[in-house]
Amino acid sequence: MTTHPADIEHMVTGTNALVRWLPTGGGLRDEDWAGRHRLMTRLLAASMVALLAFGALRAELGTNLTTWMVLLVLPCVVAAATMRGRRLPSIFVAFGFTVACAAFVALTHGQTEAHFTFFIAIAALALYRDWAPFGVFLIFTTAHHALFGVVDADLTYGHHSAQTHPLFWALVHGVAVLFAAAFQVVAWRLTEAEEKRAQDNLAESQAQLTVAFDETPVPMAIFNPDGRVLRTNSAYRKWMRLPDEPLRAGFLVTELPIEPAEPGSAVFDTLVRQEGSSVHLRQYRRKDNGELLWVEVHGTTLRDRDGGPSAIFVHCIDVTASRRHQEELQNQVRHDALTGLLSRSAFENDLAQLLSSRTRPVNVIYLDVDRFKSINDGAGHAAGDELLRGLATRLRATVPADALVARLGGDEFVVALAGGPEAGARVGHAILGAFAEPLELGDGHLQVSLSLGLAAGVTPEQADETVLSADTAMYAAKRAGGSRMQSFSDDMRVKVRERIAAEARLREALSGNLDETLPIWYQPIVATDTGRIVGAEALVRMRTPRGELLGPIQFIPAAEETGMIIPLGEHVLRLAVQHLLEWDEQLGYVSVNVSPRQLAEPDFVPMLAGLLSSHPTLDPARLVLEITETALLGSSLDVRERLETIKSLGVRIALDDFGTGYSSLTWLQSVPADVVKLDRSFVAGLSADAKKASIIQAVLWLASSLNMSVVAEGVEDPADWQALRAADCPSCQGYLFGKPMPAADFGKVLLPSRADEPVAVA
Ligand code: C2E
Ligand code: MG
Ligand code: MG
Repeated sequence: MTTHPADIEHMVTGTNALVRWLPTGGGLRDEDWAGRHRLMTRLLAASMVALLAFGALRAELGTNLTTWMVLLVLPCVVAAATMRGRRLPSIFVAFGFTVACAAFVALTHGQTEAHFTFFIAIAALALYRDWAPFGVFLIFTTAHHALFGVVDADLTYGHHSAQTHPLFWALVHGVAVLFAAAFQVVAWRLTEAEEKRAQDNLAESQAQLTVAFDETPVPMAIFNPDGRVLRTNSAYRKWMRLPDEPLRAGFLVTELPIEPAEPGSAVFDTLVRQEGSSVHLRQYRRKDNGELLWVEVHGTTLRDRDGGPSAIFVHCIDVTASRRHQEELQNQVRHDALTGLLSRSAFENDLAQLLSSRTRPVNVIYLDVDRFKSINDGAGHAAGDELLRGLATRLRATVPADALVARLGGDEFVVALAGGPEAGARVGHAILGAFAEPLELGDGHLQVSLSLGLAAGVTPEQADETVLSADTAMYAAKRAGGSRMQSFSDDMRVKVRERIAAEARLREALSGNLDETLPIWYQPIVATDTGRIVGAEALVRMRTPRGELLGPIQFIPAAEETGMIIPLGEHVLRLAVQHLLEWDEQLGYVSVNVSPRQLAEPDFVPMLAGLLSSHPTLDPARLVLEITETALLGSSLDVRERLETIKSLGVRIALDDFGTGYSSLTWLQSVPADVVKLDRSFVAGLSADAKKASIIQAVLWLASSLNMSVVAEGVEDPADWQALRAADCPSCQGYLFGKPMPAADFGKVLLPSRADEPVAVA
């Protein structure tokens, strides 16, 4: 029979595959191997002792060979226990076990069951997971069976067949032990494969962790609970300014080049004690240059099976830059950009704090530059800004260092300082004295004068009221001619309280049903010659929750000061337009009062245009907006331009209360008004006052030459009406023709049956 080369190749490949499949052996960690070896050595020693005892019992030890066999186990035990390395000691154990099993078989005179010990021993030797002890045991077992079977078959085999054919039975026993060993090899090989898989998984997750840990730009570190630094990533070392190499073993957290800025605020101890993960924001100081850092430490404590901390994992995020940015922003919010003094909100906040931290009163001095507007308009805004900066600097230098100094807006400043009234007055006078010297402005000097109001508060709740009181006192100083200080007095207190109450009422009214809380009343405007209604003035009222009806004087000033005039004014305009459309046939026009604050609002014109476009059937000329002369003078806005825009929408403009302000006739020329409303003070008693009559005559003449119409307000007396008639004044308004009345009543007055008749009593 010839063997084909392909078959040989096949066999070689098969053998190679088998060899590859076989376990490689080894693989045990040193301490695990040592543990197993210790166990095997002890087992071997124990089996020797047991054999001695068994031999003595059976009185077999006298047999020389048997005794030598048992005693041969001893050097094996000694060699196994004393030799270094793995292979030789394990071979000695394997050999020792072969001898022990053979001795046992000899002691039993070849009893078949005694051969079981070979199987037990091969199973035990598998613990080494090494080919050497395994192979040694196999070889020596087969050799023992063959040699002893031939030399002394009675001491080796228990049956006749084996005693007569010892070599054959040595082979049979060798193959049986080999099979027992083969299954151990399979188990061993499977365990090895599983271990390899587990190791691969572990290696993979470790590789992932290494990438995630080492490559991230976030500084990370792992600490031992006892404070040793176990591992750091390169971002951490870079951030800490440590050399970019693993730290030496035993490097302590306290050796890191940063330390808590506040003593006792170390995060590490907290992390050791904590459950789960947590975030701590702390300030640290660099040990090398003292630089301060804000660090967000995200910590997670890993726990062992007993629940004790085993490692602490931290991410450190340096938030110093964003903290600084935040502080800068806060600083900007806290300070007035122009002067660097405190802003209004910061002042309000600090004043409340000052009041709550002291038992002594706190003085508030409110300051306003006299005639600032004319300086600003005359010298320009840049000069105005420079003036305010110079003023702020001098003010800061004059008041005590611990005083709060703020700019509330425009040319209004405020100072707050703790102390009795005399301290407040002293500082107030010092301020007035400091401004006796002119301020340097550009190349020249400018003399400014200030009006000061002084008030004191005690509790934090009084903060707003105290500022308001100082403001009120400042106005009193201004009214008294400026360049002086006025202390807040009790009668001013009543006014302040009223103003606060008015504000609260107004806020409530604006949040309610406006048609109910802020109804519009109408007062007729009549043609002077016929007394027939040609128009009406819309006059707002306020109904309080208790049902009281308040006149505009009780809430309009507060509305203007607080800005609530904007929603209020819009409400009046909308309602007036609605009513005008309702009375389409019977009423010529409605006159609506507009306050300067409303006019100054950039949204006013777009709102008006929107209102008109939502009522396309309404002729805009039927809407008249009343603006007061004094209001126009006080406004810094280019009113002329704004009025022109309003006029371009087709809406008419009336100049209200003409005669109460500066009443310059030339000024009348410069305002693009369509109607002039003569103030009541001009009209009342006109019939008996020749001077008034001639002024009215002059105004009427000028108005007609400027193409303006005139309405005389406050006509109560029929004689005055006659005089106005004689002077050819086109329209009149006054109690004589009708008082302001609710819209429903006014609608009745307008009924068609009555529209042709004069409403007048005359
Ligand atoms: P005004 O625009 O001069 O309105 C005329 C005021 O004179 C009205 O007072 C009216 O009742 C009163 N009056 C009219 N005829 C006579 C008369 O024959 N004799 C006397 N003694 N008084 C007369 P009212 O309604 O108290 O309004 C006061 C001021 O409140 C108004 O003065 C106006 O400036 C302002 N106001 C009224 N409603 C509004 C509004 O909706 N918005 C704004 N911004 N101000 C308004
Ligand atoms: Mg008016
Ligand atoms: Mg008026």
